Amino acid sequence: MPYCIYLRKSRADAEAELAGEGETLARHEKSLLALAKRQKLPITKIYREIVSGETIAARPVMQELLQTIEARQWEGVLVMEVERLARGDTMDQGVILNAFKYSDTKIITPAKTYDPNNEFDEEYFEFGLFMSRREYKTILRRMQRGREASVSEGKFIGSIPPYGYTRVKLPKEKGYTLAVVPEEAAAVKLAFELYAYGEVQEDGTIREIGRPSIAKRFSDMGLKNRKGAAWATSSVTRMLQNPVYAGNVVWKYRQEKKTTENGKIKITRPVNPDFLCVKGLHEPIVSPELWEAVQEKMKKSATSPLPPKSAMKNPLSGLVRCSFCGNLMQRRPYQKSSQPATLICATHNCPQISAPLYMVERRILEALEEWAEQHNATWDTAAPQNFAAKTDLLETSLQSAEKELELLEKQFEKTFELLETGVYSAEVFTQRNEMLSRKISEAKTTIAGIKKEIAALQKMQMEQTSFFPKIRALLETYDSLPPAAQNRRLKEILDHVEYHKTVNGRWHNSPDSFEIQLFPAISKDF
Ligand SMILES: [Zn+2]
Repeated sequence: MPYCIYLRKSRADAEAELAGEGETLARHEKSLLALAKRQKLPITKIYREIVSGETIAARPVMQELLQTIEARQWEGVLVMEVERLARGDTMDQGVILNAFKYSDTKIITPAKTYDPNNEFDEEYFEFGLFMSRREYKTILRRMQRGREASVSEGKFIGSIPPYGYTRVKLPKEKGYTLAVVPEEAAAVKLAFELYAYGEVQEDGTIREIGRPSIAKRFSDMGLKNRKGAAWATSSVTRMLQNPVYAGNVVWKYRQEKKTTENGKIKITRPVNPDFLCVKGLHEPIVSPELWEAVQEKMKKSATSPLPPKSAMKNPLSGLVRCSFCGNLMQRRPYQKSSQPATLICATHNCPQISAPLYMVERRILEALEEWAEQHNATWDTAAPQNFAAKTDLLETSLQSAEKELELLEKQFEKTFELLETGVYSAEVFTQRNEMLSRKISEAKTTIAGIKKEIAALQKMQMEQTSFFPKIRALLETYDSLPPAAQNRRLKEILDHVEYHKTVNGRWHNSPDSFEIQLFPAISKDF
């Protein structure tokens, strides 16, 4: 998000100017632009307060700035000293402070950056000429009462609209409400429905969809959250718990709780059981029934952890696939304890014929052994070149991307010079500056993407070089391990095993007349 500069003359400045000290605003503008250049901040607007009024009412430019701050238009505001923002009337100071606080807008001065996100209230509100804590608290209480009243009228009082909505000013009265953003709302609805009802699979069964899967699906769809980042499970949880989507507005829904952990203050925002919830003026995205269904489900998943797993008996669990239908084959214990368990395909009407599980297991181990011996000699020499060529290619594109970024950053710095020397008008400057900062962030994304690819390639190479030693280790220790550990070790090496049998062993007296094919658990990409 961009930054802006706010310039304002104090009464003392006006006197100094009379004494011949030169034009104050121009001087301040120069030093704030230099500050922006040093910190690489994209400046897209400069506010100049010409009148030196003390109250907000007497400062039209401040009024305009406050509106844009409340609309969360700025990452931060550059100002010579915090006192330039507010001085005089304490009520005004409270208004200004809260505008910065609730919109998470930074105040950047040459001396210090005030960040309402990172600094604690006490410190944040300590600065400058601002009022005493008691005065501040009184004002805050008064404002809170105003906010509570707004909520009870169904208005939206937050500064950030929830995903799926945009914040709109109410016509002909004070306050805001929410308007649906159709494409975002579709994603919200999808999340609620997937979580509440699951998803119908090709075979007609219904699969439960959890919050991590929803987050992943959103990311795969390229959706970004309100902060422009990828969706995390926790943000999906907060979305699914937000009463706003059922058409309600809430007051004190989550309350900040400060605790100390390792000497550091930690802030959490748990749901407050006594929150105020009223019907909002906005249009709901999901029905109250769907919203409730989701809450019920979430309560259940929080209170009933998965039942304790009984000890795994099948070392081939989740590993062997049927050659006919592709489904995973299952262990079926034999009724009589003297007989060994079999491995069966449970798909209805599948022609696959079962075999004793221990035989399939032995065959897999034998195949692994054979495989390790066969490939041992050729593996190490054949693949690394392939890796090298791919890595080289990526490194080359990384270099050129980094070069481009460097160039863009130089151009970015240059815009400040061109403004200072008068080559650029303020308008051309802000345009260029905005365009370049956008390109810079694009270049950064590209670079991050290439770096990720290189890391993945390196991981693949690692996997490959450790693959055969892993097989050796498995073969040496296999028989001494419990089934669950055997299963885990097999899965480190094998993606899956395909099983195929057409001769019914029981009648042909050939229980081991089956075929298996191993699929290694390493990327087949090289
Ligand atoms: Zn089958």
